[in-house]
Amino acid sequence: MAAFKTLDTIGNVSGKRVLVRVDLNVPVADGKVTDATRIERVAPTILELADKGARVILLAHFGRPKEGPDPALSLAPIATATAEVIGRPVGFAADCIGDKAAAAVGAMKDGDILLLENTRFYKAEEKNDPAFVEQLAANGDIFVNDAFSAAHRAHASTEGLAHKLPAYAGRTMQAELEALEKGLGNPVKPVVAIVGGAKVSSKIDLLMNLVKKVDALVIGGGMANTFLAARGTDVGKSLCEHDLAPTAKQIMIEAAQSGCAIILPSDGVIAREFKAGAANEVVAIDAVPADAMILDVGPKTVASVNDWIDRANTLVWNGPLGAFEIEPFDKATVSAARHAAARTKAGKLVSVAGGGDTVAALNHAGVADDFTYVSTAGGAFLEWMEGKELPGVEVLKA
Ligand code: ADP
Ligand code: MG
Repeated sequence: MAAFKTLDTIGNVSGKRVLVRVDLNVPVADGKVTDATRIERVAPTILELADKGARVILLAHFGRPKEGPDPALSLAPIATATAEVIGRPVGFAADCIGDKAAAAVGAMKDGDILLLENTRFYKAEEKNDPAFVEQLAANGDIFVNDAFSAAHRAHASTEGLAHKLPAYAGRTMQAELEALEKGLGNPVKPVVAIVGGAKVSSKIDLLMNLVKKVDALVIGGGMANTFLAARGTDVGKSLCEHDLAPTAKQIMIEAAQSGCAIILPSDGVIAREFKAGAANEVVAIDAVPADAMILDVGPKTVASVNDWIDRANTLVWNGPLGAFEIEPFDKATVSAARHAAARTKAGKLVSVAGGGDTVAALNHAGVADDFTYVSTAGGAFLEWMEGKELPGVEVLKA
């Protein structure tokens, strides 16, 4: 049973004006959408509501405009792109509130789809200004939020509206919340987390939260060096935040207290320069030369990581194990990703991953589709991994 309201309980929407918050923050070059993934993700919700006779009114932000309309950040071209993706006409109103919006909404018939202009043309959006919420709400009878990626912000169109109108999670939001619930909220144990990436400093809250929740935490990537250095291992010229040694130690103490195993690399792939094809060799982790840097975890470590994946029923993953953008330092990340994908396909593992570079790494390994769920939500996914409440999700709880 979902702990939040979904379209399953929305009731009869025929003839109702449904304000749907979507993520249409797609990459655009020369007025053309270059990657329509985000539009494809929200298409099911839009079509389901339209097919049920709702008047579907889309709310979205685009970019980071200053106060006032900015033609470069207009959603107008996105209306065209959305129409192409869903195969139906999508109207456009040149304002998200006021007369223009009211006129366009007033002209809608049942099943019509309309996109309103960039909500962030008003600073009141990000301030969650009650008067602005009121103006948005004037065009709707029901609110549906399908933009998990914006749910960590308490903005008018992501949070405020849910207090004004009956509020529900759209299908994409629902899928994301259900996947995250399986990953960390209420997972099948044992749960193993892999955390990698560049720096400990950007992931302190995340690590602190994970050690309390998971059975084992594999630490790889550049951030492993900070942990290694904190326990006295010389990491040479590797990326390392020496000033964070106390934080790393504290995380290891919290882990020990919570019964969470911490798995640090036992070997590494070292090089003298950070570039593709750089001369490299595998060394034991306590034998890193002073002039070398660790750019990937070594084969022994990968074997151990894959072993932990075998023991897990649930895997949550954020951050690559090495500098995966420059070959051959992608090896460990690719190997572990393929192993996790195979276990998932075999029905042995629930695998949930997220993070900008993590998604890129899984795509690079060719396995993003084989994970149970890969979140493209970015900041919202990380805040969720930090154990924070997301305001846009809280208001959808049943
Ligand atoms: P995400 O975007 O998935 O949250 P991060 O941004 O935290 O991931 O980390 C990704 C970055 O970490 C990549 O640019 C990668 O090159 C870098 N990285 C991983 N391992 C190392 C390493 N050993 N040394 C330097 N950089 C590394
Ligand atoms: Mg990143």
